[in-house]
Amino acid sequence: MELKEKKVLVIGAGISGFAATKIAKKLGADVTLSDAKEETDFIKAKVPKEREKNTPSDLPANSLPPTTFPLFDELRGLGINLIFGKQEEKLLKGVDLVIVSPAVPLRIPILQAALNKKIPVISEVEFAFNLAKSPICAVTGTNGKTTTVTLLGLLLASQYEKVGVGGNIGVALSEVALEVGEGGYIAAEISSYQMEATNNFKPHISAILNVTPDHLKRHGTMEVYQAMKEKIFAQETADDFLVLNYDDEKVREIKDRAGCKVIYFSRKEILDEGAFVDNGKLIIKFDEQTFKLCTIEELGIKGWHNVENALAASMTAFLAGVTAENISGVLKTFQGVEHRIEFVREIDGIKYYNDSKATNTDSTIKALETFDGHINLIAGGDDKLTDLTDFLKLVNQRVDNLILVGDAAKRFREEALKSGFNADRIFKAGYSMENAIDIAKKISIPPQIVLLSPACASFDMYNNFEERGKNFKTIVNAL
Ligand code: ADP
Repeated sequence: MELKEKKVLVIGAGISGFAATKIAKKLGADVTLSDAKEETDFIKAKVPKEREKNTPSDLPANSLPPTTFPLFDELRGLGINLIFGKQEEKLLKGVDLVIVSPAVPLRIPILQAALNKKIPVISEVEFAFNLAKSPICAVTGTNGKTTTVTLLGLLLASQYEKVGVGGNIGVALSEVALEVGEGGYIAAEISSYQMEATNNFKPHISAILNVTPDHLKRHGTMEVYQAMKEKIFAQETADDFLVLNYDDEKVREIKDRAGCKVIYFSRKEILDEGAFVDNGKLIIKFDEQTFKLCTIEELGIKGWHNVENALAASMTAFLAGVTAENISGVLKTFQGVEHRIEFVREIDGIKYYNDSKATNTDSTIKALETFDGHINLIAGGDDKLTDLTDFLKLVNQRVDNLILVGDAAKRFREEALKSGFNADRIFKAGYSMENAIDIAKKISIPPQIVLLSPACASFDMYNNFEERGKNFKTIVNAL
């Protein structure tokens, strides 16, 4: 990509924006990074009020907010122009290319003005694609992306020396594309946000896991949300592949709109070609050949949703040239991603699991379905006020004791009682994870397990779900 002496404007100072800014500068462009927030907003530490009540043990109560944002100093040192606050049209003067961070919607006035002036506006993912010299495997879907892409990265790494994992996973794809260079493989996690300003992105293999209602605030309708996801394969041609979930009707039908070869995966049906489960075994059937990968019991990740993720990642890796033997080895050892039904420790016959990533009831349902029963569930947090009917139906079937924390505790308790859950088996732990774990430890007897799967966001007690999960693990590991 030729950027020498070009004027590049990057919109959005997040992980992707920072990476694009630095890379464009390295490639010889004159770069401006603009964010609608004021610089001081980045510096203010986000300490929610409830955190003060709680003060988790691994976060010192007296930690002071930082007074500078070191990354901005670094960018200024590189000669990058930083502009904060109101984004006026004059920002576009002489600009040859605008690169957009995923958090920024195309509808904002500065981007609309750029499009009116016929200035190319591309997403950071498209920028990454333009830089990439190795083929890309791209995964999207409403749920399971991070697990599938992390596994895919390991599968690719079992076969190829140079492998990078990036995208909507905490590492910018442009950074990964540059690092991998030629002769490797790139695994990309793609969200609907990243597809909005993307038109030429062309993975060699793409996979769509599932599509359920989400992010409607940004995309407006379910149709637009699905259309964004379908942009992932829009440029693929006859030599490329699209891996689709046969069990999800909306995803299965996508085949009709694909210009590349479609391969399905299914955990419910035996397929003529693709990845599926037969008699408890994960199988790949391709080009008249059948490969046994492993049994469901041998899989390192648990739950039916993870069987789907394993099938999707395996099929994608197989099409990328990874041998069935290598796939089989990785599937047996991969233990999943932190904060997703993560086994922490066993104490006196009681296993503790951290599923802090379950920030909504759908995710907690997946976790509850993973275990046969005898669950002592720690739930609650920042209440999303969603309907609890399906969640509580499963709670009544599989949960022995319900330990509630945070803002949601009151409503969760009331609804649980209405659903018929026994009052003696509900415990309130206030805004303290320590209390919750203390209660769990006192009441648990084998074969019960302790599962943190909150069905709520974390912002009433923590900055994010990662912090909540780490706090849970710290306390459990100190028991
Ligand atoms: P994402 O990156 O798409 O958010 P993750 O791999 O981080 O996905 O998983 C997030 C949550 O989504 C998990 O805790 C689990 O509850 C749920 N989940 C994971 N895989 C699937 C799947 N294939 N289908 C439905 N839900 C899933």
